[in-house]
Amino acid sequence: MEELKSIIRDIQDFPKQGVVFKDITTLLSDAKSYHRMVDLIAHRYFGQNIAQVVGVEARGFVLGAALAYKLGAGVTLVRKPGKLPFRTRKKSYQLEYGEDTLEIHEDAFQPGTRVIIADDLLATGGTVAAVYELVTSLGAEIVECAFMTELKFLNGRQRLPADKVFSLMQFD
Ligand code: 5GP
Repeated sequence: MEELKSIIRDIQDFPKQGVVFKDITTLLSDAKSYHRMVDLIAHRYFGQNIAQVVGVEARGFVLGAALAYKLGAGVTLVRKPGKLPFRTRKKSYQLEYGEDTLEIHEDAFQPGTRVIIADDLLATGGTVAAVYELVTSLGAEIVECAFMTELKFLNGRQRLPADKVFSLMQFD
C-alpha cells in the first residue's frame, strides 16, 4: 500500500492558500497503480450483490465506473447542480473549501437496491454525508462508502455510520 500511496502527490496551496491538496491524478494515469487500486477495492465487494455504484462528480466517476464494471453493477451519477437532465433530488452541504449542492435523478433506484458510494477522497465528510442522505432518501440500501484515500485527521468518517466507511489508503 505504501507504494500506491507514494504515487499520490501533495500540491501546496491548492485550491487556496494554506491547503495541501492530495493529487490523485498521478495514480490514475499510472496504468499499473490504477488497476491495482481498482482491483483491491472491487475485491472487497465480490459476491455481495452490488447492483449500483454511485459515483460522485467528478473524480468519483473514475473510481465508480471501474468498480461497477468489475462488480457487474450499474453506475449512478451524483452531479453538481444543473447537469442531470431528468427530475432530481438536491442536497446542499458544507465542503472543505466552501458550500456546494449535489443532485441525483429521483428515479435512480428501486427500493432496496444494494449500492456502494464511490469517491476519490474522504476529507471532512460533508460531501459523502450529503450523498448518503440523497441515496438513502431514494430507498436504496447502502452497503458501504468506498474511497481511494482518507485524510484521517479531518475525522470525516464520523459523519457516517461506523460500519459504512472503507478507504484503501489513509493519510495521518
Ligand atoms: P469533504 O466533503 O469530505 O470535505 O471533501 C471530499 C470531497 O472533496 C471529495 O469529493 C474530494 O474529491 C474533494 N477533495 C477535498 N480535498 C481533496 C484533496 O486533498 N484531494 C482530492 N483529490 N480531493 C479532495
